[in-house]
Amino acid sequence: MELPKHAFFSGRIVPYSDAKIGLLTHTLNYGTGVFGGMRGYWNEEEQQMFVFRASDHFRRFRQSASLLSMTLPLSDDALTHALIDLLRAENYKCDCYIRPFAYFTDEVITSHLAALNPDISMVAVAFPGLPHGGGLHLTVSGWRRVDDNMLPARGKIAGAYVNSFLAKTDSIQAGFDDALLLNTDGHVAEASVANFFLVQNGIARTPPVSDNIVEGITRRTVAMLLKAELGIEVEERAIDRSEVYLADEAFVCGTAVEVAAVTRIDHRTVGGGGVGPITFSLADLYQRIVRGRIQKYLPFCSPVYHPMEANENRIS
Ligand code: PMP
Repeated sequence: MELPKHAFFSGRIVPYSDAKIGLLTHTLNYGTGVFGGMRGYWNEEEQQMFVFRASDHFRRFRQSASLLSMTLPLSDDALTHALIDLLRAENYKCDCYIRPFAYFTDEVITSHLAALNPDISMVAVAFPGLPHGGGLHLTVSGWRRVDDNMLPARGKIAGAYVNSFLAKTDSIQAGFDDALLLNTDGHVAEASVANFFLVQNGIARTPPVSDNIVEGITRRTVAMLLKAELGIEVEERAIDRSEVYLADEAFVCGTAVEVAAVTRIDHRTVGGGGVGPITFSLADLYQRIVRGRIQKYLPFCSPVYHPMEANENRIS
């Protein structure tokens, strides 16, 4: 991955190489940070970059912070300005991935989070997307998804990602593409960094937010599109492992992975073994929406290379 040229750091845009923190920084030692993962999509015809659902990502970012007793030092408007300034400084004319990060700056050894001082950084890297054209092969992981009574599962807390990465690493080493994690009740939670849906008998099902999943913004988008655009009923309910094995279609969704078909699970073929028709239509629709090609969904797309006034009006 090529490093970005700039970073938003200590309240301003600086060269990436100047954005540094000390070894004793609390978050570096204990994972006490929270982050976001957003995408900017390049629209070649319009010569425009669209950031998808920026305000929803910042809302979850703030909620994740509050789970750590962390009050973000910037308003949503200030975050949006920082994001636009950063992307304009990079001057990307390609898809990119944006990483806002909030961390405790204190170089101190303590366990009392509320006594610490947060700051926010942001970087954006060119990101062509992940290859998953033929469908993913998942395995049910031996690692259980973090439980909300142990570590808040719904937000994006840095330390919690050790759980995701252990599951992902083991799945890759065992020859799969990704892990499907069960929660402590034994129900399906999600993939390592993406939410999970299955389709059976024309009904789409996904675990409820109370099943220790990250409250995915793509999940919310996809559920809305399934209902509003594809006329598919969406049921949020606990999902058993063996239901996954019997699904007609399955897919994972997230900002990075977008909508990716799951065609095999634990060496069992899902449905016909190819990308199912509902997953295919959904993935295609999603692509057109995030690039600002469907008028109705333009309020989700914040243009970068326009004046801020126009941008603010278009953030949902
Ligand atoms: N679950 C986990 C653990 C994640 O890290 C992500 C990515 N943020 C998701 C689900 C999907 O969330 P989103 O659609 O907001 O990217």
